[in-house]
Amino acid sequence: MFFDLAGRKVVVAGDGLAADRRAETARSAGANVVRLAATATAADFRGAAAAFIATGTLEGDTALQRAAKAAGVPVNVADRPALCDFILPAIVDRDGVVVAISTGGASPTLASILRGRIEAALPERIGALAKLAKTFRAQANALIPDPARRRGFWRRLVEGPAARLALAGDEAGARRVALGELDAVRRRLSPVGIAHIVGAGPGDPDLLTLRAAQLLQEADAILHDELVPAAILGRARRDAELVSVGKRAGGKERGSAGWAQAEIEAELVRRVLAGQTVVRLKAGDPFIFGRGGEEVDALRAAGLPVSVVPGITAALACAASAGIPLTHRRFASAVTFVTGHGAEGREAAWPALAAQVGEKGGHTIAIYMGATEASAVRDRLLDAGMDPATPVAIVENGTRPDERVSVGQLSDLARLAAIHTRGEAGPSLIIVGEVAGLAAAAGQPLLAEVS
Ligand code: SAH
Repeated sequence: MFFDLAGRKVVVAGDGLAADRRAETARSAGANVVRLAATATAADFRGAAAAFIATGTLEGDTALQRAAKAAGVPVNVADRPALCDFILPAIVDRDGVVVAISTGGASPTLASILRGRIEAALPERIGALAKLAKTFRAQANALIPDPARRRGFWRRLVEGPAARLALAGDEAGARRVALGELDAVRRRLSPVGIAHIVGAGPGDPDLLTLRAAQLLQEADAILHDELVPAAILGRARRDAELVSVGKRAGGKERGSAGWAQAEIEAELVRRVLAGQTVVRLKAGDPFIFGRGGEEVDALRAAGLPVSVVPGITAALACAASAGIPLTHRRFASAVTFVTGHGAEGREAAWPALAAQVGEKGGHTIAIYMGATEASAVRDRLLDAGMDPATPVAIVENGTRPDERVSVGQLSDLARLAAIHTRGEAGPSLIIVGEVAGLAAAAGQPLLAEVS
């Protein structure tokens, strides 16, 4: 039972922490809280919606419990389940969406552990979703007389594109989509779906964001890069359609299974128009060397709903995994993410970057897609005057079971990179700058023996 206490008299008898907490809880539910001493009588309880008793002694609790019962008021006695008419559940309260957990008084600790798990599983903005539903409640119930269609509308509202936008913080967008859907149901049109451009992180499934994991469970179809490993695709809903669009590291090659960027965008639009919830799953973060921006543009141009879910980008993941702080009070006050593909071209800003690395305060360069062009990268940096002894690290398959890290000097970069580009090599990230010398692989082992 969720009991409305707004404006009602609620008695709290006794003092101490337990009584204070209960008074606070009742007050936050809008109750008119009356504090009583341990000597209260039945008359003091009369007219109350509920009574909380916490005197600390069995005699005190029992006497007050009797007084409250005599006045016909439901009672809760702190830590004495046998004397309670009702108990206080552990609650998760997200802006009015409330989950209550009870173990029947058996174990408050278990209840609080469960609360923690539910907290983690519930989207942070679930309250905004409830608010959205409330906004449309009267209107939808009036406009859709058929109960089955109405149920369909509500399910879609709380699970579909409008919900996703509300959960992502775009309340205006959510209302717009919901209005469109209401109109479509009324006119018996089939509503459109939604695309989520989702970062899958570096490869370790534990490094997915909570939202990415939720969306993998909701998607009708998942269009994924070649770089996204099976361990992550395994988190998808069982009957989700998995489509490899086959873009490899670098995104340039178009193998037999590879799709051109325009083909991927057209496929996203086609599926969303057909009503699907589509996840476009990209390695790392979709907006870091991921062409996520172009896909968002294509969907927006078609007037279709789209959300973007960030992911842990390779530079952050590889640095963490190898024990390299990208900034460091002593060694680096800035970091730049750059693609190695520009190393051959004239336009790349390598000279300026190289100069910054040597500057006072220091600078770190994280180079994506650079392993196959390592000699060009090294030449650009040396030409620009960088010290050949500058530490470099290469992290291959960062955060995955087959991660390999090499550490050396800039002058060695091409030789080091050769190790990570032979045969079945995975994606590699190069880190240049003093901090690369702090890599775990360069110093002590991460695990110390305890004697
Ligand atoms: N959007 C991705 C980058 C795509 S570009 C992100 O934010 O991480 C592809 C490049 O990313 C690869 O060439 C490699 O340099 C880097 N990369 C991606 N995953 C990696 C991993 N697990 N380990 C090392 N480098 C990785």
